[in-house]
Amino acid sequence: MAAHIELRNVSKSYGEGDDRVEVLRNINLVIEEGEFVAIVGFSGSGKTTLIKLISGLEFPDEGEVLYKGAPVTGPSLDRGVIFQNYSLLPWLNVRNNVGMAVKEKFKKWTKSQVGSHVEKYVDMVSLSHAINKLPKALSGGMRQRVSVTRALSLSPDVILMDEPLSALDALTRGTLQDEILNIWSKDKKTALLITNDVDEGIYMADRIIPLRPGPKATLGPIFEVNIERPRDKTELNNNDNFKKLRNSILEYLIKIGSERAAKLTNEYTLPDLKPIPKGRLFQGTRA
Ligand code: ADP
Repeated sequence: MAAHIELRNVSKSYGEGDDRVEVLRNINLVIEEGEFVAIVGFSGSGKTTLIKLISGLEFPDEGEVLYKGAPVTGPSLDRGVIFQNYSLLPWLNVRNNVGMAVKEKFKKWTKSQVGSHVEKYVDMVSLSHAINKLPKALSGGMRQRVSVTRALSLSPDVILMDEPLSALDALTRGTLQDEILNIWSKDKKTALLITNDVDEGIYMADRIIPLRPGPKATLGPIFEVNIERPRDKTELNNNDNFKKLRNSILEYLIKIGSERAAKLTNEYTLPDLKPIPKGRLFQGTRA
C-alpha cells in the first residue's frame, strides 16, 4: 500500500539567475497513515517550503510529492494547513470564520448541521463565550485557537502544521497541544508538525526529523519517540527515554548549527585591500 505522504528526491528553488536560492535539495520522506511526524530546524532552512510542497501551494523543481501514491497537483481540503499567523477573515465573527470553511467542505449539510458542528469545535477550544466576536476583539492566543479549530473542523485526512503554536504563551500552547493530540488520536489523522521546540516535538510526535540548515537543506536522521501514549507532560521530565532523546536531538542540532556557522564564516571573501602610500589621503584608480 502507498504511503499516505511521500516525498521522493524533492528539490525546490526560488528566483531566477543571480537571485536563485536553492532551498531544499534531495528531500526523501515517507509518512504512513495515522503517523505523527515533527520536523525541527533553524529558521530560514525551508520548513515552510516543505509544508507548502505537501499542501500543494508550491511545486518541486525536481522529484515528486505524492499523496496516497498520486502526485499533488494543488491544495485540497483533505490536507488542512495551520499556519503561524491565524489568517482569519476580519469581517467575520468566530462562528462564521469556522462556519464558512465547514460549509465549503460539507456542501450537502443543512444549516443546523453546520451550526452544531461549528459549535462543537468552538467549544473544544473553550471559545464558546466568544463565538459571536470578531477577530479584532480576541487576543492572539484566542485567534490561533479559532484558526486551529477551523482547520480541524474540516476533518482533513492530513493536518499540516507550520509552527502553529510558537507565538503563544506557555499555558495556551500546552492546551492547544493537547487539543490537537486529542483530535489526532480520536480521528486517526496523519499529522506533520513543524516546530522550533524539541520538547513539543517529543511530546506530540512518533518521529522527529531535523531539517539541516540551508541553502540546499536536506533532512537529518530520524529520531524515533519510543514513549507510550498518552504522554504526561509532568512525568516526561522524569522519563529517562525522554531525557536521552532530548539530549541526542539537541546535540545534533547544536552540531549542525555550528557547522553552519563555520560554513558562513568561510564564505566571506575579504576585499583586496592595499596600504595607502604615505602622503596620500586615499587611493583611487583612475581610468
Ligand atoms: P523556514 O520556514 O524554515 O523559516 P522558508 O521555507 O520560509 O524557511 O524559507 C526558506 C528560504 O527560502 C529563505 O531563505 C526564504 O527567504 C526563501 N523563500 C521562501 N519563500 C520564498 C519566495 N516565495 N521567493 C523567494 N524566496 C523565498
